[in-house]
Amino acid sequence: MENSLQLYNTLSGKKEPFEPIKPPFVGLYVCGPTVYSNAHLGNGRTFLSFDLINRYLRHLGYRVRYVRNITDVGHITTDVDEGVDRIGEQARLEQLEPMEIVQKYTLDFHEIMANLNLLPPDIEPTATGHMIEQIEMIKTILEKGFAYESDGNIYFDVQAYKEKYNYGELSGRNVEELFSNTRTLDGQSEKRFFADFALWKKASPEHIMRWPSPWGLGFPGWHLECSSMSTKYLGEQFDIHGGGMDLKFPHHESEVAQNTACSGHGPAKYWVHTNMLTFEGSKMSKSLGNSILPNELFTGDHPLLKRGFHPMVVRFFMLQAHYRSTLDFSNDALEAAEKGYQRLMAGVKILGALPVSDSSDVDVAGLKAKCYAAMNDDFNSPVLIGNLFDAVKMINSTAEGRLKITAVDKASLQELVRAFVDEVLGLKGIEDTSDGGMIEGLMDLILDVRARARANKDWGTSDAIRDQLVDLKIVVKDGKEGATWEVKA
Ligand SMILES: [Zn+2]
Repeated sequence: MENSLQLYNTLSGKKEPFEPIKPPFVGLYVCGPTVYSNAHLGNGRTFLSFDLINRYLRHLGYRVRYVRNITDVGHITTDVDEGVDRIGEQARLEQLEPMEIVQKYTLDFHEIMANLNLLPPDIEPTATGHMIEQIEMIKTILEKGFAYESDGNIYFDVQAYKEKYNYGELSGRNVEELFSNTRTLDGQSEKRFFADFALWKKASPEHIMRWPSPWGLGFPGWHLECSSMSTKYLGEQFDIHGGGMDLKFPHHESEVAQNTACSGHGPAKYWVHTNMLTFEGSKMSKSLGNSILPNELFTGDHPLLKRGFHPMVVRFFMLQAHYRSTLDFSNDALEAAEKGYQRLMAGVKILGALPVSDSSDVDVAGLKAKCYAAMNDDFNSPVLIGNLFDAVKMINSTAEGRLKITAVDKASLQELVRAFVDEVLGLKGIEDTSDGGMIEGLMDLILDVRARARANKDWGTSDAIRDQLVDLKIVVKDGKEGATWEVKA
């Protein structure tokens, strides 16, 4: 498998050649959503970035096992929030069972991912489905001396870990620096050290989601599920671990520590982090009122949006930025992306019908090399899209007779477009949903048949047509000028 793919590794802080541990296999683990509310646009961008990576690795011929988990235990999400059961909280708010909340928002998440044409992961494990594995991992960490029990809670012992390993190697943070930034020492007296994090939390009486363990009823710490599920499905060490950059600390740093405590080394060879979204230059947040849900973006049903945009336009728009750059949303940028997307897909559409000649004045091989060079440079989709616009220019000029193309070059251009537009970027044409006047024509025909039946006093046929149309929610009204029809909602 000859290729020169380079990817940016957060661990080393630089681009490195991609060399899988056991080629042609590639293990890819991405931290999935916590399913207690609608998937937000930032999730969409993160998972779309890893969809691009997954698609390109497959395109290169790697046999990828893509694991993306569902966090369905509503535990701690930050140190400050410790003990907050977000799923339980939402269940009380919506008066539903916690697992109804999980089901509802998992379905919502899957629908958004499908609309954006993301390939599903090969394994989508849930935290609640891996309670035994998580408890086993805590036992191992305790046995190795990197955790301690405190009043039914188990904490990871950062000081013990620091003596042997490098805590902070992924995020580049050191404990002293963290200490000076810590303001929430109150109420954490069960911990020996401020940076210790929970592996297991004792459930308070009002905590709904709880499991039995050797340390009593409780629930696992958030960081633990990814360590135990990635180990189960991809092994103690696998190729790529990814997530949004907001997960780098404490989530991923804690994963590294947990895995290292168990096996002596971190879980992944390459760590990949995606950047954030902004709206007209400011961070998207609920409190600023500029947080837009994917569905609101598709329908345009949001005060900040002029109108809705097709999921394929949104996908194209997101791919126009490199995954490590921030992506700024605005109405103007989306409208520009829509025009660009239409221009690209119009070129793709006429490619098959291009006339061929005995000679070519287009350099398809050169263009192909540029497309691979872009993707091999840390999955640079914006540069790839620029190259594909060069292909569109080539196609349009040939269609207008200003350039010539041979049958062989045309076939390789078709293959290039199939590979990069369809397979790697995952862009589909937007189906034309208008029926081209077919329904109007059919209704004219049906009402004409009915009028003839009435003229022949064939009331049976006339009534049957009217009644069957009612079943289709089409109401026929007879008037002086003949019959008219309308669709009832
Ligand atoms: Zn995770």
